[in-house]
Amino acid sequence: MTEVACLGIDASQEKKCTYAVENTCELCHDYFPSPLLCLHLISHHIYREMARDPSTRILVVCELCHELIHSLPVPVKKQRVLVGRRTFFVRRDLRRALGYKPAPYEAPATVDIAQVYEEYLGRSQTGAYHMGR
Ligand SMILES: [Zn+2]
Ligand SMILES: [Zn+2]
Repeated sequence: MTEVACLGIDASQEKKCTYAVENTCELCHDYFPSPLLCLHLISHHIYREMARDPSTRILVVCELCHELIHSLPVPVKKQRVLVGRRTFFVRRDLRRALGYKPAPYEAPATVDIAQVYEEYLGRSQTGAYHMGR
């Protein structure tokens, strides 16, 4: 638990994370009751995806795998691959567990739908004009 303390993850969030992965260790894919799963901090270095989404900084693993990750150690690169393979639902639930809200989608400010439409019409008219000739 101390390992992810720097992320400000409390005990209830940790529990929610274990639910998010359906109590399945992300390394060995075995089922474990929540108290036997722990959060592993992948790296103190904040990679690009981690800056955007804190849920990509952790792995939910069983105690045995957690020991293994540190003793081998499992390369950070491989751990990031594991994170990248998460299903949409695991990703979403982990984000929720950690209180991370992705920025709401906003259309780029430069795109003006009316203008795009006008340009599209303008282009097809030009096309028709050329065809006519
Ligand atoms: Zn495991
Ligand atoms: Zn760890």
